[in-house]
Amino acid sequence: MKRCALILHGGAGARRSQDYARETAHMRQVVEVAAKRLQGGAPALDVVVEAVQALEASGLYVAGRGASPNLDGRYELDASLMDGATERAGAVAALEGFKSPIAAARAVMERTPHVMLAGDGAAAFAGAQGLERVKDAEAWFTRAGKGEDNHPPGTLAHGTVGCAALDLDGRLAAATSTAGVFGKMPGRVGDSPIPAAGVWADGHAAVSCTGQGEYYIRIAAAARVAWRVEAGEALASAARGVIDRIGAMGGDGGLIAVDRHGNIADPYNSQGMKRAWLTTDGEIGVRVFD
Ligand code: ASP
Repeated sequence: MKRCALILHGGAGARRSQDYARETAHMRQVVEVAAKRLQGGAPALDVVVEAVQALEASGLYVAGRGASPNLDGRYELDASLMDGATERAGAVAALEGFKSPIAAARAVMERTPHVMLAGDGAAAFAGAQGLERVKDAEAWFTRAGKGEDNHPPGTLAHGTVGCAALDLDGRLAAATSTAGVFGKMPGRVGDSPIPAAGVWADGHAAVSCTGQGEYYIRIAAAARVAWRVEAGEALASAARGVIDRIGAMGGDGGLIAVDRHGNIADPYNSQGMKRAWLTTDGEIGVRVFD
């Protein structure tokens, strides 16, 4: 039977003391649009990119317009995507000066022989592709000049956006976009732009991660979920097992995942994770805590 499903996240840095009414309403709206696209037969790859672009553009999450600066006050953004049907991947790391890092990641996948471009090379490529530039960072980024009142200095507090989907033709895809962790060193790259770490899609599962990226890199978190599913484990158990392992190492965060049957999973070990989903029954849900 043909079925589609989708899950997205707005980061696992949610705090119980904060009000996420705007994010909740926005995530629902993004899923409603994505649901129509998937139910109309759109490819999972297109839909995850569109959803991540909507999350980036909103300024509500720590990605795209809502990015936080590094210790030098510069906005170095990371993004990646993977197409499970073809196992192609694209990524940008430490990209400066562009509104949609996920659009740049897709261009790397589709228009270069490479998987990842970083820093100045990524920016030169994005410019040559005609992608939309940030002209005035202080005016564009919603967190510019505000400091990070929600997050104590010195901690690796974080936020990211991502989406994973199964389309009616059985194709899986995932995309992730972030500004990384707050107070990061210039040049620091987390898991988000690294296929296998912060994003993954193959014929078994599509996964997008959020959390302290260093831990996700060390255990190839996103790919590990899919490999466990490929070995016969249920998606919920595989996803939970990976987050438990990150917790045992001292890391925090979560992930979202969809398998080829349309099952979804959203485990996290932080206080909350902003997330919304579409089930194979056509039901839409949104949640931040529990
Ligand atoms: N994983 C991201 C990073 O380490 C941050 C996050 O997901 O909140 O860059």
